[in-house]
Amino acid sequence: MYDIQEIRKDFPILGREVYGRPLVYLDNGATTQKPRCVVEAMTDEYYNVNANVHRGVHFLSQQATELHEAARETVRRFLNARSPAEIVFTRGTTESINLVASCFGEAFMREGDEVILSEMEHHSNIVSWQLLQARKGIKLRVVPINDRGELMLDEYERLFNDRTRIVSVTHVSNVLGTVNPVRRMIDIAHAHGVPVLVDGAQSTPHFAVDMQSLDADFFAFSGHKIYGPTGVGVLYGKETWLDRLPPYMGGGEMIRHVTFGHTTFNGLPFKFEAGTPDYVATTGLARALDYVSALGMDNIYSHEQELTRYALERMRRIPGMRILGQAGERDAVISFLVGGIHHLDMGTLLDRLGIAVRTGHHCAEPLMRRLGVEGTVRASFALYNTRSEVDALVEGIERVAKMF
Ligand code: PLP
Repeated sequence: MYDIQEIRKDFPILGREVYGRPLVYLDNGATTQKPRCVVEAMTDEYYNVNANVHRGVHFLSQQATELHEAARETVRRFLNARSPAEIVFTRGTTESINLVASCFGEAFMREGDEVILSEMEHHSNIVSWQLLQARKGIKLRVVPINDRGELMLDEYERLFNDRTRIVSVTHVSNVLGTVNPVRRMIDIAHAHGVPVLVDGAQSTPHFAVDMQSLDADFFAFSGHKIYGPTGVGVLYGKETWLDRLPPYMGGGEMIRHVTFGHTTFNGLPFKFEAGTPDYVATTGLARALDYVSALGMDNIYSHEQELTRYALERMRRIPGMRILGQAGERDAVISFLVGGIHHLDMGTLLDRLGIAVRTGHHCAEPLMRRLGVEGTVRASFALYNTRSEVDALVEGIERVAKMF
């Protein structure tokens, strides 16, 4: 039973008001709210366990280390990865992508080599490669989208050549909601002997992902977008790849032995985890993954799909409504513009009605250029949103539209 009113009680913030109105939080693509169990697990660790991990022989350090490594196992299970050695804790999707661009680029790319991206990437999956481009002279090749906001797979296939070294593509567009056919894209890349990094920032919160059936070589996601704390994320990598990459940062934890002449590195995944990790946040992330798993990712998916269908149906009836992104397979994200109303005006006026949406370019300026807009308004749903919140959004948009 998916009892939405009971579920909402787990998220204290949903009960608050803004400007004297009940909060309608529809900016979940940016970050999600946290259930009580996540905050409590972290508070409990600070109050009762706190000690640095992997270092001390003393009781607290060992207990903290156990919690931290148990969190890694929880992530492994959530992703259905083969081994905890494939789970690297990072600060989030951005750091995970930068790690791959930097380390893979260092080991396997030289001037003239190519990375394939798509037109709908978040800046984190563009700029990381541009930094490598500046260092090494690599080339960025871009898969275009059609007018529905879907990747053009025939164009994708045509981009492969003997200089293609890696594909880095988003699972779900944070603007259009498009769910990309990454499984097929991975098969195509593998047929060319090319590995694939999938940006899972916008997929992991919404539906089950399985590393063994997806067969991605690298996969990145952020804790805060899946009801976990800020400052922690994950890079999944196949052991065969992670083993062959050089370290990302130097420091404690990632070494085996150090002399001034020579250093040997730690094994996986610690080779990529220099310095004190945010071990309290990893506990919070594990609790968040337990929380969504207990609800059932399939139940969350059904709930959000139903909500998105309902929202699209109602929003399409608003005069002047333009919805950006009409992909056949889409997720719980709706970008829109109404008539000539500036996205910032729409967002600001909705805010006064207690409705939190995102406005702007959504860290996807190349996509905005392709769509011919400067920005959009974006409503993005989470497991705790309701039909009546969609009604509030629709009525809010209608009210704002009447003012113009
Ligand atoms: N990739 C996508 C598709 C995103 O939507 C986001 C965040 O909005 C990111 C990457 C970056 O995530 P973070 O800021 O948590 O590193």
